[in-house]
Amino acid sequence: MPGSATDTNASTPSAASGNPASASSEVGAICAELLRIDTTNRGEGDAEGERAAAEYVAELLSDAGAEPAVVESAPGRASTLVRIPGTDPSHPAFLIHGHLDVVPAEASDWKVHPFSGDVENGCLWGRGAVDMKGSLAMTLAVVRQRLREGRRTRGDLVLAFLADEECTGDYGSRYVVTEHAGWFDGVTEAISESGGYSVTAPAGDRIYPVAVGERSSAWMRLTARGTAGHGSKPNPDNAVAEIAHAVSRLAAYEWPVRLTPAVQALLASLGEILGAPIDQNRLETEAARLGQIGKLFSGTIRNSANPTRLDAGYKVNVIPGSASAQVDGRYLPGLGEEFLDTVDRLLGPKITREFINHEEALPGDPSGPTFTALADALRAEDEAARPVPYVMAGGTDGKSFARLGIRSFGFAPLMLPSDLDYQAMFHGVDERVPLAGLEFGTRVLDRFLDTR
Ligand SMILES: [Zn+2]
Repeated sequence: MPGSATDTNASTPSAASGNPASASSEVGAICAELLRIDTTNRGEGDAEGERAAAEYVAELLSDAGAEPAVVESAPGRASTLVRIPGTDPSHPAFLIHGHLDVVPAEASDWKVHPFSGDVENGCLWGRGAVDMKGSLAMTLAVVRQRLREGRRTRGDLVLAFLADEECTGDYGSRYVVTEHAGWFDGVTEAISESGGYSVTAPAGDRIYPVAVGERSSAWMRLTARGTAGHGSKPNPDNAVAEIAHAVSRLAAYEWPVRLTPAVQALLASLGEILGAPIDQNRLETEAARLGQIGKLFSGTIRNSANPTRLDAGYKVNVIPGSASAQVDGRYLPGLGEEFLDTVDRLLGPKITREFINHEEALPGDPSGPTFTALADALRAEDEAARPVPYVMAGGTDGKSFARLGIRSFGFAPLMLPSDLDYQAMFHGVDERVPLAGLEFGTRVLDRFLDTR
């Protein structure tokens, strides 16, 4: 396993090793190996490395005695699926899903090369360390150990290591839920990314947000059509000006605060942990005051529509006949109609809009034994753990699995040092994850799987 910057290749688990190591002793090496496989997803079908990563994952699983399959939605767009039989065929199956791809990284912005998988100061560095190869490594290490020890879950355990989460999931989760749905028969619940990591409260409690819901993805293309003509001539019907005005209205709009039941539950839990209620009349100020803790709710107290792309014109002295923009829209569970009505009012009659990608929000509900089991597993490994339910501002493959009636929790357990701003590293530079945090996570995951 990697213990220093120089020790990078020594004992990488491979199909040939038959390594009897424990989960916590091999999680770092597996993570480093995954980080070295560049699985950049540039979007719109342009991606690389997923096949190599899927095969590496499949090797690790078959090495431990499982029978994985690598499935491809298009050349190179590979995902690995495996179903490990449980001890009771009548018990619901359980799914752990994660994505193999990462967002692009500009090497010159980073302190270490983003695909080196280096270990420095106790952390594994690289694009995907946080989102989400560290989590994949934990899953693989734990499942390998359980397979070696012959410890089965009660229901079947299904694992899905997927392509294309960093775009729409068309080549990954959406593909497997339509073309390979049989792998997920009998699965009712799942865990995946974006939750379960610790955020330290001032009094030393460690808050572990467990995601129970997601805002929608409502990605839109806006188009303005006008009269094409010479750039020197008067033109009151200028498409470039029209799209600029529309985007500006959208960007300037202050979306009203809308507290859904899951966010209310989070605010109440945080108030309890912090020893003073969070003032719901000034949530922005409260979020800023609370720093990392504030980030757990600042993105989910309202809908949002952020302009992200503009595309117009082809020459300085030609007014084009049309101009377009793209907008990353997100709305909370139950607020879709209000969101779209507001967007249309702000855009006005001269702009048309179409969805590039539209998935409903996932309602957040922490009730039930699974949330309790996740929280118990955290508390058993960290006596300062204070698990809380929260809602993701963004989205995950959980939305695709919801189509099969599977409810996903964001749970990739990590105990983190209080000064590490983990949330800022998703898609950020110098992404890194503490090795000790991953080792902690394997113990929590193992405990949790004992309850499945
Ligand atoms: Zn992710």
